Amino acid sequence: MSEVFNVEEIFGQNLFTLDKMKERLPKNVYKEVVKVMDQGGELSMDAANVVAKAMKDWAVEHGATHFTHWFQPLTGITAEKHDSFVAHPDESGKMLTEFSGKELIKGEPDASSFPSGGLRATFEARGYTAWDITSPAFLKESACGTILCIPTAFCSYTGEALDKKTPLLRSMEALSQQALRIVRLFGNTEATKVVASVGPEQEYFLVDEKLFMKRTDLMFAGRTLFGAPAPKGQEMEDHYFGVIRERVGAFMKDLNEELWKLGVTAKTQHNEVAPAQHELAPIYETANIAVDHNQIVMETMKRVAVHHGMRCLLHEKPYAGVNGSGKHNNWSITTDNGVNLLDPGDTPNENVQFLLVLACIMKAVDTHADLLRQSASDVGNDHRLGANEAPPAIISIFLGEQLEDVVNQLIETGSATSVKEGGKLLTGVSTLPDFQKDATDRNRTSPFAFTGNKFEFRMVGSSDSIASPNTTLNAIVAEAFCEAADRLEKADNLEMAIHDLIKEYMTEHRRIIFNGNGYADEWVAEAEKRGLPNIKSMIEAASTITTDKAVKLFEKFGIFTKVELESREEIIYETYAKTINIEALTMIDMAGKQIIPAVVKYTKALADTVNSVKEAGADAVMQTELLKTVSEKLAEMQKALDKLKELEAQASKMDDVKAQAFFYKDSVKVAMGELRKPADELEMIVDKNIWPIPTYGELMFEI
Ligand code: ADP
Ligand code: MG
Repeated sequence: MSEVFNVEEIFGQNLFTLDKMKERLPKNVYKEVVKVMDQGGELSMDAANVVAKAMKDWAVEHGATHFTHWFQPLTGITAEKHDSFVAHPDESGKMLTEFSGKELIKGEPDASSFPSGGLRATFEARGYTAWDITSPAFLKESACGTILCIPTAFCSYTGEALDKKTPLLRSMEALSQQALRIVRLFGNTEATKVVASVGPEQEYFLVDEKLFMKRTDLMFAGRTLFGAPAPKGQEMEDHYFGVIRERVGAFMKDLNEELWKLGVTAKTQHNEVAPAQHELAPIYETANIAVDHNQIVMETMKRVAVHHGMRCLLHEKPYAGVNGSGKHNNWSITTDNGVNLLDPGDTPNENVQFLLVLACIMKAVDTHADLLRQSASDVGNDHRLGANEAPPAIISIFLGEQLEDVVNQLIETGSATSVKEGGKLLTGVSTLPDFQKDATDRNRTSPFAFTGNKFEFRMVGSSDSIASPNTTLNAIVAEAFCEAADRLEKADNLEMAIHDLIKEYMTEHRRIIFNGNGYADEWVAEAEKRGLPNIKSMIEAASTITTDKAVKLFEKFGIFTKVELESREEIIYETYAKTINIEALTMIDMAGKQIIPAVVKYTKALADTVNSVKEAGADAVMQTELLKTVSEKLAEMQKALDKLKELEAQASKMDDVKAQAFFYKDSVKVAMGELRKPADELEMIVDKNIWPIPTYGELMFEI
């Protein structure tokens, strides 16, 4: 049916891996690269020149014509500016391609149009990009040709982070340092660093391109702003894990191939709950690489979909009434000598270390639940978190029955001597069972679930970068580790001190544990009783990053300065206001130019029918009734449209960005809902042939 290809052969083909560097670089330069990768610091200019030449030669051999510093500005997507390898021809007219070490390690994009929340204005500096040597360069093949992409961090000249990568790298460093202090307490002298690993499960929708093109809302907003429910939705549960349709399968095949070439370990693919919804999960890897790869995954999905006459929708809620898309962020921490700190382990020593780590994570998540919730917010995710549909925006930890039982015993008696479900009971110390995923992971409603040897942060939105959630996770856990280590390193009796600390942290932060149904209304009430924050929207969560508590945390570990946090808060308001503004304008356009004119046409046809039926001497009660209903809803729609126009105009004139964002949320968005309602009702009664835009049924089932 198709050409045969060998996964092993193509995997990493477009990636400038360490292996390729080893082949192509002189030994001393290679050694320098490895050292900088492992221990940080900077490459010498001499070495950088050699690496640049080798990288360019490799890229050119593979057909590359340009290079780019690939970075992740605060727009949440990636940015690139291509420069060709073309250099001045020599006297004979021959051109030899060029790429210097300086070009490799540092770039200066004119980046004045990226969001900076006033940062660049304050410091009157331009942005620069710096190579993240730990994330390998790769070749991107597209209609543009082949481009050598160099993953970089993006900062202002005075060092403020203007991107999502820089803080992430800083947080990984902080976590590593503090986690090392913890493992040292348990006699681990071999580990030299601790790495955060991440495996993001990416959900997405596919839609036929011809239908997509007929929906300006999908084109401009990435989601439908109108649309009555289809006769069939997801109620039959026949899509989840169902047989993958041929067209979608062909897309997935190409997608996998593209990703494998780029060294992305695309592993699992399946149909998701909603019709036309799917998921792809890679194998987990070091956090910064996972973040880069997730960006590549999202970008590649969009590109490959186009090749198959489809569009990929990454929006968190493309369609009302069916499941939205999220991104489960699986996170764990492992030493470089192979110990996963979230693995309960087999020996009592490992068990105690695990319980200490768990206690620290409980403390971190409880103390900074607001920050964690914020880190998973984006405009689209507001339709999932805390909206009328589950899940709520309340952070809690799911441990599973067995582990919760252990925690309860520790709190109540100070020791866990028995473990549920027939775990081994040893005299003196009990040994924890392996909390296998199948024993723990039956609760899909928890936002932060322990799944055997990792935590799964399930709040993240499908279109969002996973940089912020992981930066936050790393930071808050680093802080808890630091506070624990400060105390334990000074202890006279370490064993007792560890014991007391576990008990204390678990007792104090027990309220964050919740094993029940996170989607039930009772949980919302219960969480309120427990004093857990329930922050309903992205913009209400924005100010959590500039509280004294947050500034103290992020400054302590050099992850963000106060100024950086303030700039980010401002960008959140800005992004929100701009997004809702686009949505409102799109609705105004669609309602005024497409839906209302179509309905007017329909009323004319109805009126003509009424007249001719009456003329023919019959009674036209039904037709008259229908005409009346349609006319009423039309009037309702026109009224709602006028109101939305007025509010949108008012909103766009506001200059306080925070007040503006809240006005968009509390007034404009509400008016959008009021316009949508009569339009969707009309869709249900108006002749299908007259309805001007593809319906939900077509969008979700015609693929
Ligand atoms: P699901 O949650 O859909 O049941 P899995 O739990 O098998 O699927 O895996 C989901 C993701 O978690 C994958 O990307 C996988 O690589 C990742 N993962 C598995 N183990 C770890 C770990 N120790 N740390 C981080 N991510 C992990
Ligand atoms: Mg999962």
